[in-house]
Amino acid sequence: MGISIDRILEKPLAGERLTPEEGLALLENPRLQVVGATAQRAARERLTQPYRTYAVAAHVYYTNVCSSGCRICAFHRPAGHRQGFVISTSQLQAAIKSSVDQGASHVTLSGGLHPDLKLGFYERLVAEVKETSGLHVRAFSPAEIVNIARVNRMKETDVLRRLKTAGMDSMGGDGADVLTHECRNAIGPRKCSPDAWIDVAIKAQALGLCTEATMMFGHLESKKDRILHLERIRRIQDGTGGFLAFVPHRFLPLNTGLPEIQSPGAFDYLQTLAVSRLYLDNVPHVRTSVYTCSPEMISLAMEFGADDAGCVRLLAQQMPEADPGAETGREHLIWAIRAAGYEPRERDAVFSVISKESSD
Ligand code: SF4
Repeated sequence: MGISIDRILEKPLAGERLTPEEGLALLENPRLQVVGATAQRAARERLTQPYRTYAVAAHVYYTNVCSSGCRICAFHRPAGHRQGFVISTSQLQAAIKSSVDQGASHVTLSGGLHPDLKLGFYERLVAEVKETSGLHVRAFSPAEIVNIARVNRMKETDVLRRLKTAGMDSMGGDGADVLTHECRNAIGPRKCSPDAWIDVAIKAQALGLCTEATMMFGHLESKKDRILHLERIRRIQDGTGGFLAFVPHRFLPLNTGLPEIQSPGAFDYLQTLAVSRLYLDNVPHVRTSVYTCSPEMISLAMEFGADDAGCVRLLAQQMPEADPGAETGREHLIWAIRAAGYEPRERDAVFSVISKESSD
């Protein structure tokens, strides 16, 4: 007979690691409230302060042109498509200025895997943002770095070095999806492999570029795949300590290549989030996803192990078909944190608190 759920739940609170089998048992266990309460206790033991955090960032999509065509994506357009764009300098400057005026603490740059853009474009982009805003620049993801290196026939480390010199302060954590080869082959075989994603995350962290790890779940993966993903993140973190946070996103099928799939419901989302908190004993923060969760769900997630309500995104471009949650504002996250019984505090890109009191 296997280990009981109650014994498994004792382990993280006693400082013992969960095995993949135990993580899977928790993910498949129907007693959501028990798993959630344990994750919440684990979060409170690690983060004893009476507040929980949120952030406000300018979010710039520099291009939606992408050669990958992942089935889970509602954002990309193929090269030559009439809705494809590459941001202009004037659009970039206007977006940054507006976001700074609205109180952004950092700027996030993300985009598709453009088949032609040269490294100089990305260097100018980062330098322009830095010069215009003076803010922390969180730029690109491992998949984007792999693509830039491939298009420019360079080593990924050299690309990262050049972008860091241009003003890149940290790297985004998107594009991990679920880090198993079967899953990547099923949803986006032209995107970089899971091993390449991991390799670039490690290289960036070695250069002092901290990052986050994400997981987009609820499409074609199994629950075992989710645990394998958590296991890979935990192993990297043991070696580097470079992940500031883990962000589980639930898959939203609207406008994607998988419209028949039903998005994970509240039960599945909260259970996955709680198990992430318990499994990733070496990642400091677990944050919710403004992108895929309502303020009500974000508030609930703070009772299931999340300690950060996520990031308000001041968008340079309005892309409603690909950007749910874009209307979530500072006031919604402040409400969500208060409704969960905590004091809200604004943080910056590296999770340092920047407000004593949250304005509302
Ligand atoms: S998920 Fe990323 S890599 Fe895949 S198609 Fe969309 S923009 Fe391109």
